[in-house]
This record gives sequence, C-alpha cells and structure tokens, in this order.
Amino acid sequence: TFVSFEGGDGVGKSTQLDLLRGWLAGIGREVVVTREPGGTPLGLELRNAVLHGDHVAPRAEALIYAADRAHHVATVVRPALERGAVVLSDRFLDSSVAYQGVGRGLGADAVERLNLWGVEGLLPDLTVLLDLDPAVGLSRITREPDRLERAGADFHARMRQAYLDRAAADPARFLVLDAAQPPDVIGAQVRTRLAAVLGV
Ligand code: C5P
Repeated sequence: TFVSFEGGDGVGKSTQLDLLRGWLAGIGREVVVTREPGGTPLGLELRNAVLHGDHVAPRAEALIYAADRAHHVATVVRPALERGAVVLSDRFLDSSVAYQGVGRGLGADAVERLNLWGVEGLLPDLTVLLDLDPAVGLSRITREPDRLERAGADFHARMRQAYLDRAAADPARFLVLDAAQPPDVIGAQVRTRLAAVLGV
C-alpha cells in the first residue's frame, strides 16, 4: 500500500508521516518512510543540485525531479510494495505537477506524462493533501529558505490551487485536510481513511 503526503512547504507533512509511522508499526505493519526529492543516494545529489544551484532552467528542473522519482520508485518504492510494506512518501508525482507543471508554467499534462513514464504508471493508493495558506506554511519554516521557498507569493498560490484542482478531479485517491488544525486532529483523520484503504 502506497501513501503520499502532499502540500506546500511548512504544512506539516513530516509531522504527519511520523505519527502515521508510529500507528502502522503499532498495528504490526512493516513501514517504509521515504521522501522526494532525495530518497536515494543518487536522489540526494539531484536534490542538492536542484535546490541549491543558482539557476536551473525550468525544463531541466522538471527532468531532474522526474529522474529522482524514477530512481526512487525503481530502487525503494516498488521493492518495498512488492514485499508487502506500507510505503509513506513525503511528496510524490503530484508535487511535480503542482510545482513544475503549474507553478513553473510547464503545463500540468506534460509534466504528468513525463513523470508517469518515469515511474511506469505507479500512483499512490492514497494521497493526503495538507492544505494551508502558503503565507502560514512559509512562516512556520525556521531554517534558511531554499531557492523554491524564496519564490514569489503568486508561485505558491498557483501551486496550492493546482493541488486542490487535482484532488477535486480524483477524490478516490485524495484526502484533502485543513492543515491549520492541530496535528493530532489531522492524524486521526488520516488514520480513519487509511484504515479503510487497508481494511483494518
Ligand atoms: O518537501 P521538501 O522540503 O523536501 O522539498 C524541498 C523543496 O523542493 C521545497 O522547496 C519544494 O517546494 C521543492 N520542490 C519542488 N518541486 C518538486 C518537489 C519539491 O519545487 N517536485
């Protein structure tokens, strides 16, 4: 079973991943927690190149994220799914559609096709979208902002809307939650939906 967490920067994805990891371990499931970009050694190099380089041409950026994802799926995600683990990924393909497709204006369909080719069509069974006003999310980030986090307010507003549009188009896969709620309240909502997906 494959679960991805999506949303802007600072919405609380990693907090929710930790909560869910604990719950799944408690019910005796093998859990693999991973992330994009940077869920593999190659991915860490790609993450560094794209987030800390001065300027990366938008199409190059889209291809680098797609390469990171293709390698991540082939070497981490699919092997874990094949042995029956629950895989929790901090970001997946929807991030690229929102950030590169819509935020960078490369086109949602083109970026989705590129990435679906890269992952041979793999999509999560459940995608949790943590939705939050980008100004609130960015204000929660305490470390030095990276290149993407410094992008303009309209970039972040566009990608928030892109996520919401994708979720509305595929309610069977998406669970949209208000990320302004307390973490334990959000965690309970995630568990209820995942329990239904797992049949537990
Ligand atoms: O979620 P995390 O903080 O690891 O993401 C690193 C950065 O990469 C963030 O600034 C995020 O906005 C950006 N990103 C992106 N396109 C993606 C995935 C992440 O611009 N497809």
